[in-house]
Amino acid sequence: MRVLVISDIHANYTALEAALIDGGEVDETWCLGDLVGYGPDPNEVVEKVRDIKNLTYLLGNHDVAVIGRMPLETFNGEARRSLLHHGKVLTASNKEFMRALPSNTTVRGEATLAHGSPRDPLWEYILNSLTARLNFEHFDTPWCFVGHSHIQCMFALDEEQDRVSLEKVKPDVPIILRRKLILNPGSVGQPRDRDPRAAYAIYDTTACTWTPRRVEYNIAEVQQRIRAAGLPEKHAIRIAEGW
Ligand code: ZN
Repeated sequence: MRVLVISDIHANYTALEAALIDGGEVDETWCLGDLVGYGPDPNEVVEKVRDIKNLTYLLGNHDVAVIGRMPLETFNGEARRSLLHHGKVLTASNKEFMRALPSNTTVRGEATLAHGSPRDPLWEYILNSLTARLNFEHFDTPWCFVGHSHIQCMFALDEEQDRVSLEKVKPDVPIILRRKLILNPGSVGQPRDRDPRAAYAIYDTTACTWTPRRVEYNIAEVQQRIRAAGLPEKHAIRIAEGW
């Protein structure tokens, strides 16, 4: 089975469309959260995701905030401004769709899915090997797929040496899944690893591989819509630079 793994779309419709086209034919799509926040297209993104067949979806922290399950004060000023705007423009039907989705971890075959981390699904960022090490104890499957940090990366547990390492991943170079791993497909709509291209991954359950992917999209067009909507300028600048 070929699975498209996407995360952190953040209301960037152009990036989502590019990733879906580039991903090609898939049997399932697993989305690790954050449809909204930051970008200009919350309704378009939710509607596009609603149309995806065989979808597994987890809510992210921005999603939970926009449907009123988390106080907006937990977000910094600029992130909060976008969420306030999204809360106003999202249609009732799109909010209803989001309210029906889970915000906890989910197990799909050999993978545990979480937005942030398996031990703290909504909030914890796995950015270093220490945090990763603590999280390896919180899932029973061989792999765990997480989003939230917007960084395409992989953490590996060496059980013999009891060591956790952050390993580099390269776009289009498949990783053969062997050891216990935490994998992050990166962010579709707001990458923060200095590569502004939309990030996602293809998980092949038969070949047992994970292939990180990047695809270019029309960033200028999205920046224009961010500015036209009166959203913070910072959100326009960062998508062009990948931070
Ligand atoms: Zn996010």
